[in-house]
Amino acid sequence: MRHIAIIGSGPAGYYTAEAAQKQWGDDVRVDVFDMLPVPYGLIRTGVAPDHQSIKGVSKRYEATALSDNVRFVGNVMIGKDLSVAELQKLYDAVVIATGAPHDRKLDLPGENLGNVYGSAAFVGWYNGHPLFADLDPDLTGDTAVVIGMGNVALDVARILSKSRAEFAGSDIVAHALDVLDTSRIKRIVVLGRRGPHQIMMTPKELGELSHLTRAAPRVDPADLPEEGEDALLEPGLRKSVNHLRSFAAIPESHYADYGIEIEFDFFASPKALIGTDKVEGIEVERTKVEAGRAISTGETYIIPAGLVVACIGYRSSPIPDVPFDEREGKFANDEGRILPGLYCVGWARRGPSGTIGTNRPDGFSVVEKIAEDIASGTLGHGGKAGRAGFDSLAAERGLDVVTFRDWKKIEEAENARARAGAPREKFVDVAEMIAARR
Ligand code: NAP
Repeated sequence: MRHIAIIGSGPAGYYTAEAAQKQWGDDVRVDVFDMLPVPYGLIRTGVAPDHQSIKGVSKRYEATALSDNVRFVGNVMIGKDLSVAELQKLYDAVVIATGAPHDRKLDLPGENLGNVYGSAAFVGWYNGHPLFADLDPDLTGDTAVVIGMGNVALDVARILSKSRAEFAGSDIVAHALDVLDTSRIKRIVVLGRRGPHQIMMTPKELGELSHLTRAAPRVDPADLPEEGEDALLEPGLRKSVNHLRSFAAIPESHYADYGIEIEFDFFASPKALIGTDKVEGIEVERTKVEAGRAISTGETYIIPAGLVVACIGYRSSPIPDVPFDEREGKFANDEGRILPGLYCVGWARRGPSGTIGTNRPDGFSVVEKIAEDIASGTLGHGGKAGRAGFDSLAAERGLDVVTFRDWKKIEEAENARARAGAPREKFVDVAEMIAARR
């Protein structure tokens, strides 16, 4: 019997569990740990609440979680409740699948002013992540600046634009809906330090901006390169740029019908956040792009803004005694191998890029590495205590483990208290989640 511990129950974790099942069938036992009492990581607290079809992938993870040889071990934090070294004594292989839950820093003056948030915090707030449920952003200023030209920036701009009615069928948490109702934002500036040909936004997500009831996108036609240059782009990016071209063609009269403008500000690199306690504006430097790189021009301007959300990427959370690549913000690894018997997968391995589905081949690839290491004898010859060993240690330490069956009760309670038309109303507090399983 092989015993595998996976730290993190998001997409990377469950795809790895699925791959382990396919590889070893009945000869493997997999424990999937999560520091929260609820599973699915990014699917629950990262994917936008109005993208329910993407969240539907959790049904696939549930099928894995419900099989006899995979177990969910919630409410246990590795690195605090027990160490990676202790896990390694109990399991043949330990796989870190903790994603990249922290914001990359802007490293700019004024970054710590009030109402300046990173996307991990802001997205966590409207998705009900217990760590960020208390964020309470102030949306009463008339301008918000969203930094970054990726899909997370689009998520944030879209969520800030939608009316309550447009959240029908979503699982946005009640506290966020209530604050969004107080919003007086009229202008959302999406700031990109490079140009339209360098955006990271995908076509479907950009296209959604054309279907908002009270917001319309605005692109300055002067920012777009000659149309002929689009031919050199890869097809997905070309489609995205087509959306930008259609936004640039919107007649001025159209905006009178919309209360909110989502304005793309290209060639604009943030320099400083301005304000005394709360942010009041952002200083930006005009750039030009040469050979794909942003070059300073020395020209600066200020955008007055009452809210700034930096959507500029994420970092993994280091775990004591596990080698970490500080520069890249992910675990130091060679194709998923960290140390003998210790692996990483998903964003913890490769950094925050790709779609949810990218994690599937990642999961299969790390299991292949484990199989190779078993075959070469690097992982010893089995005989580890596995889940029985963990259970004894958990009892000794008085850990309050939340099982998958417990999670199903929590889920039932969340579904039962959903507002009309919504799939669920999430608990945003760990104690409430734990109480709901009883
Ligand atoms: P991303 O796609 O890497 O975009 C990050 C953006 O931030 C880039 O435009 C980048 O500009 C900019 N940036 C980075 N550092 C900056 C700085 N110091 N100052 C100004 N701008 C800076 O990251 P993301 O939006 O966080 O998304 C992460 C991953 O999740 C991506 O793979 C994304 O596609 C995926 N995702 C998918 C969906 C979906 O499919 N619906 C939704 C959300 C997220 P440069 O290019 O100039 O560096």
